[in-house]
Amino acid sequence: MHLYTHPACLRHDPGASHAERPARLAAVVEALRGAFPEQEWEEAPRASRGQLLRVHDDALLALVLDTPVDEPTHLDPDTLLGPGSAEAALHAAGAGIAAVDAVMLGAARTAFCAVRPPGHHATGTVAMGFCLFNNIAVAAAHACERHGLSRVAVVDFDVHHGNGTQAIFETDPRVMYLSSHQMPLYPDTGRVHERGVGNVLNAPLQPGTGSEAFRTAWREKLLPTLEGFRPQLLLVSAGFDAHRRDPLAQLQLEADDFAWLTAELVAVAARHADGRLVSMLEGGYDLDALRECSVAHVGALRAAAG
Ligand SMILES: [Zn+2]
Repeated sequence: MHLYTHPACLRHDPGASHAERPARLAAVVEALRGAFPEQEWEEAPRASRGQLLRVHDDALLALVLDTPVDEPTHLDPDTLLGPGSAEAALHAAGAGIAAVDAVMLGAARTAFCAVRPPGHHATGTVAMGFCLFNNIAVAAAHACERHGLSRVAVVDFDVHHGNGTQAIFETDPRVMYLSSHQMPLYPDTGRVHERGVGNVLNAPLQPGTGSEAFRTAWREKLLPTLEGFRPQLLLVSAGFDAHRRDPLAQLQLEADDFAWLTAELVAVAARHADGRLVSMLEGGYDLDALRECSVAHVGALRAAAG
């Protein structure tokens, strides 16, 4: 498997009191280095403007990349742009591009991108919810445009609904979006009736939901639909904020639940996609939970790679 990160992703700094802080990524990288000391790391390249423009408009690129900022500046109440943000956003999106290329060209079967800022709330036109560019959407569009795929699945188990990813692809049948998330919770989208052009499946979960109901939702609803889509590539929005320790939400998952779901996704990829699976870090705001969950997730991805 391939692991991607870049030091620029540590230099997006929304301010000391912000939940989406550089220490998150430092914790993930440190935990993965400790758990898998023999694993090599790849340096995430920058995404190009052309790659970003597949899903974002000119105005959002100009806002994120060309705004002169001396100190963190609010784009919305949750989302800030600081001096290091543009470089971080370019490398976060570029990691997914490089990882898609690696699994499509056979250099790896699976990949995990330890990057920030996260991406799944960013729409085609709006940076929001801690997200500047939609990293997983940029990766999915790259898989369709550069590699000619017609069935790409984006699986999102972050505790928040990936409104941006859904909005970007809800009229594009080449990409299926499947999500479990807490409801009610930010961003207040992801209801069951939101189906896109038949390519969207949402499984909202009540606050307090634990392992059993989470696994049932995946086993009975989301995984059978994913299986029926026969994806040529799986992309994963891997947020770990559904863990019981997370301060931003009230689901009650354990690290073992993320390992279980990851193994299920790996099995789908093996059946339909020659094992090709690219995962990207999204949320997760308790550092101990982040460490434990990212090791569980990557451990399952490495087992798949054999
Ligand atoms: Zn989240």
